[in-house]
Amino acid sequence: MLLQVEDIKTFYGSSQALFGVDLSLAEGEVVALMGRNGMGKTTTIRSICNLTPPKSGSIMFGGQPTARQPAFKVAQRGLGLVPEGRRCFGSLTVYENLTAAARHGHWTIERVNDLFPRLAERRNQQARTLSGGEQQMLAVGRALMTNPRLLILDEATEGLAPVIRDDIWRAIRALKTDGLSILLVDKTLSELLPVADRCVILENGRSVWAGKPVEIDTDIKDRYLGV
Ligand code: ATP
Repeated sequence: MLLQVEDIKTFYGSSQALFGVDLSLAEGEVVALMGRNGMGKTTTIRSICNLTPPKSGSIMFGGQPTARQPAFKVAQRGLGLVPEGRRCFGSLTVYENLTAAARHGHWTIERVNDLFPRLAERRNQQARTLSGGEQQMLAVGRALMTNPRLLILDEATEGLAPVIRDDIWRAIRALKTDGLSILLVDKTLSELLPVADRCVILENGRSVWAGKPVEIDTDIKDRYLGV
């Protein structure tokens, strides 16, 4: 397994957010992390990246524990995170954003530009002057430029115009075809389920269901996803 999360419990100060989350992801797999608002998806991601380290349980990434490693070290081991709310460096240009964290590998400026041609057109523009959708593309492009072993996307299409969403989903499908391992959080089930190999559902900070997208029936949707 590329990523193996076992029974993690994570707190914000004295307030417990995760009460036992299990999740695994094999090399080349796309796993959807699902659940209603506030159920612990972002906290699970923050735990995996060691931004909010779990108090107990274990996380193995690439066969090694992430415990007691600062988040930047875990990132250097090949975790590419596109956090909720697309954080780009606003005063840097598109090009500077892409090259700032770049590491040698398959993903180059040229490949990112092929994936998102709009970024090529806006190469010398400051990131803060981009539209929300373009900033999201830049956030994905920047994560790819680190040549991650695992790409994590937290609500990458949230709040974007439909045409831009389509562009992002097209890119995600292309990355999957490319064989990239991806952990994905998104509310648009109609796009998410076809691209996912497996799904893990969280409820109240616990993983309560795992299986293939085809196994998610109306009962599971009603019970855990509120649709
Ligand atoms: P959403 O879809 O709304 O982003 P989520 O499934 O990602 O939800 P989390 O953001 O992980 O859920 O939140 C899980 C729980 O942790 C919630 O009860 C939330 O209120 C709490 N929580 C999240 N961030 C913090 C924080 N910084 N401090 C305290 N509690 C927090």
